[in-house]
Amino acid sequence: MFEPGVMFWAERDDLAVIAALGVRYGQLGIPGGMTLDEAVAAQWKQDLAAAGITVVTVFAAYDGEDYADLPTVQRTVGFIPPATRASREACTLAVSDFAAALGVHSIACHIGFVPEDEHEADYIAVRDLVRRVCDHAAGHGQTFALETGQERAGVLLAFIHDVNRPNLRINFDPANLILYGTDDPISALKILAPLVVSVHCKDGDPPPAGAPDALGAERPLGRGTVNIPRYVQTLRELGFPGPLNVEREAENQPQRLREIAEGIALLRSLIPK
Ligand code: MG
Repeated sequence: MFEPGVMFWAERDDLAVIAALGVRYGQLGIPGGMTLDEAVAAQWKQDLAAAGITVVTVFAAYDGEDYADLPTVQRTVGFIPPATRASREACTLAVSDFAAALGVHSIACHIGFVPEDEHEADYIAVRDLVRRVCDHAAGHGQTFALETGQERAGVLLAFIHDVNRPNLRINFDPANLILYGTDDPISALKILAPLVVSVHCKDGDPPPAGAPDALGAERPLGRGTVNIPRYVQTLRELGFPGPLNVEREAENQPQRLREIAEGIALLRSLIPK
């Protein structure tokens, strides 16, 4: 399945439109606050089967997250903000149960900026929370994948070793490493490869010089700084099985869908027959 897939979202994307892109695989994002009861899971299972799409990962996102700039991301994203920690943990466990009902063997999320000091209270709380999510996911035979980008490869690896759970893995997003100005994506991929269970194919440019709080700009696949041909070639050389999930976060939905289609076409052109 070294072939394109799509990162798509419940309550944003129409499954028929995603299927019409000609992909067989995808990752399903669950927005914060979405009802995830048995009836919803049964409907999704039926609709995915009808659309011919196999979901490889279910992503959790949370109410109140804001990716406006670095300080806002630090304050609002993932498990780092103490005020929402417990509710987001509950939400993540619910996503794990939902994924299990769909027969999906991996869940993922952005956990937020991991503090570098392992003695800090927030670090300890987040590490322990991630252990609980891993243990819950393990009960469903799932991996729990952390999205890359907000810390350097070495910091992420040290955190994963400290959590010390065999099902804690990585969803590798090369663009995030550029958008956050954290690391070179290809070098980071080579370091993290043994733990990578899923990938995003996303592109972007670095933050502007002299603006320390700014994030870089996400770009259509192949038009940013990642070097998508080299990224795809490296994934192949590392033996990554696929799929290659195109992710585009543009606000404008028709533009986003058009650029996802162009991204899929680009990937197809880069995958040897
Ligand atoms: Mg991503």
